[in-house]
Amino acid sequence: MNLRTPGPTPMPPQVAAALSQPMINHRGPEFAELLAEVTTGIQDAFQTQLDVLLLTSSGTGGLEAAVANLFSPGDRVLAIIIGNFGERFATIAERYGLDVQRITFPNGHAADPQVVADRLAADPAVAAVLVTHNETSTGVTNDLQAIAGAVRDKGPLLLVDGVSSAGSLEIKTDEWRVDVLVSASQKGWMVPPGLAMVSVSPRAWEAHQRAMLPRYYWDFTYARKEAARGQTPFTPTITVLYGFREAMHMLRTEGFPAVFERHRQIGTYTRAGLDKLGLRLVPVEERTASNTVTAFWLPQGTDEKAFLETLRVQYDIVLAGGQGELAGQIARIGHMGLVTQADIDQVFGALREVLATQPVARS
Ligand code: PMP
Repeated sequence: MNLRTPGPTPMPPQVAAALSQPMINHRGPEFAELLAEVTTGIQDAFQTQLDVLLLTSSGTGGLEAAVANLFSPGDRVLAIIIGNFGERFATIAERYGLDVQRITFPNGHAADPQVVADRLAADPAVAAVLVTHNETSTGVTNDLQAIAGAVRDKGPLLLVDGVSSAGSLEIKTDEWRVDVLVSASQKGWMVPPGLAMVSVSPRAWEAHQRAMLPRYYWDFTYARKEAARGQTPFTPTITVLYGFREAMHMLRTEGFPAVFERHRQIGTYTRAGLDKLGLRLVPVEERTASNTVTAFWLPQGTDEKAFLETLRVQYDIVLAGGQGELAGQIARIGHMGLVTQADIDQVFGALREVLATQPVARS
């Protein structure tokens, strides 16, 4: 199967094989070694010296953990929203009783860092900015460096959802001063779902000391204390960590600069091919188009469900449809982690045939 959803992503055979290793004691020395190896690799990918905590959950758990650990009820946060996942981060903060101010940009657009800077200048009460680095629902990547620059001088913390970007796209966590970066194993890391990774800056630790929201499973203090002795507070997903160790070995052997460049190339290749097929991309600017997932508008009159079903049944290709207000209107091709040009060519071939039976609209 050509699994081209934007997560879960395909696993290399070495990773799949690693998953079948026998269980170990998660309070023993083998586990401490496993945890250390994976954590060091993530620090390398995040370009950070900060604490990185591994939580047994999907990416959303990592986002929830960030909110639960850093704030008190009523704290004001600014949520930058360019699609469904930005809205999710804002909703989590709302459910935890924060005062959430939204800046929303239209689908297909990245956030304008100047607008963020202006909002922060006008509202000194903002304690933190929440932003999605790579908006998986629209295939748009925010200019995180510029947004970080807009936030940095104003004082708020910067919390970044890097679920579908970290490990595939460059994030200079320390240099850009990202206070919290969240990712998840099933994306470009080439590992099964089940693990969220969260980096925490010294300023975020200070906020954590003051934060009054209740926390237990997500408690960063507990996670850091246990990590210092090579453990996790609760029983971890040992199997996913086995896979992660193997994937990390592959990624570090290649080197993260090369991994990021490979994603740039496959993203460019995918967009160019769709353009040749006469399909219009959801991202309005090439500059902010995502190199991990490409979203395109379905030709007018296309039934999304039937279209995806045809690809799956007749071609063994699995794409994702639209989410939220884009449901029924777009399709998304994942190209993070294990993907070759041949995989994308196969998608192009199938699209060419399927679209020949559909009316094609271009604007
Ligand atoms: N944020 C982004 C940007 C994502 O792409 C996803 C997953 N598609 C999530 C958050 C949620 O992650 P999970 O499904 O692992 O909870």
